[in-house]
Amino acid sequence: MEDVEKHFGAFHALKTINLTIGEGEVVVVIGPSGSGKSTLCRTINRLETIDSGRITIDGKDLPAEGKALARLRADVGMVFQSFNLFAHKTIKENVTLGPVKVRGQKAAEADKRAQELLTRVGVAHQADKYPAQLSGGQQQRVAIARALAMDPKVMLFDEPTSALDPEMINEVLDVMTSLARSGMTMVVVTHEMGFARRAADRVVFMADGQILEDTDPETFFTAPEHERAKDFLSKIL
Ligand code: ADP
Ligand code: MG
Repeated sequence: MEDVEKHFGAFHALKTINLTIGEGEVVVVIGPSGSGKSTLCRTINRLETIDSGRITIDGKDLPAEGKALARLRADVGMVFQSFNLFAHKTIKENVTLGPVKVRGQKAAEADKRAQELLTRVGVAHQADKYPAQLSGGQQQRVAIARALAMDPKVMLFDEPTSALDPEMINEVLDVMTSLARSGMTMVVVTHEMGFARRAADRVVFMADGQILEDTDPETFFTAPEHERAKDFLSKIL
């Protein structure tokens, strides 16, 4: 992202954002509510347009529309706070739908891959159930499997554990940690500082639409530069 600006009406939501994320890097984005974390994530797959500046993936500008945009979105997996599974599809169908419809995979191939992914996130035995029959933690792990089924180049997580009961948070973070270790490029908005310490290559701290800190976790947690960051850390740690 180069000099990215974004307004909602008169409100300046992203202020001159400069951010480079390398292949295989895990970047945790933290900051107070309303600081622009979700907006930043959403611009990366063009769920939000930007006013000015540039966003490039693999050296190419984000496509504005049409097939190229659909391709981009297929390459950028997104996992939200609310799991957004298709309620009337089984767990396995949730995972196979994208690969079959968007990637043109054969049903048998998509099925096999879905079973592998559901095993990887620990819900293989739930494959024929419906989302409402699963716990929140299980549903979120299915949402991760569903995103991975598209073979994304990068995964965006926007507060993936914020809606979960405390006892389910770790089962989701464990899946994300293992994904991070597997070399996936990840942008993770989270308040889970244990995850940031464990899995992040970099921590980006946002406040008021700006990136104030962009550093390694050790430096961020022990010696943040800005008062805003110190203040934020004192409230959540
Ligand atoms: P965060 O994820 O850090 O809590 P957001 O990116 O969701 O913050 O929002 C940043 C600011 O932009 C907030 O003040 C929010 O109210 C505003 N905002 C976000 N989306 C919209 C929108 N679609 N229309 C108007 N304002 C918005
Ligand atoms: Mg948000």
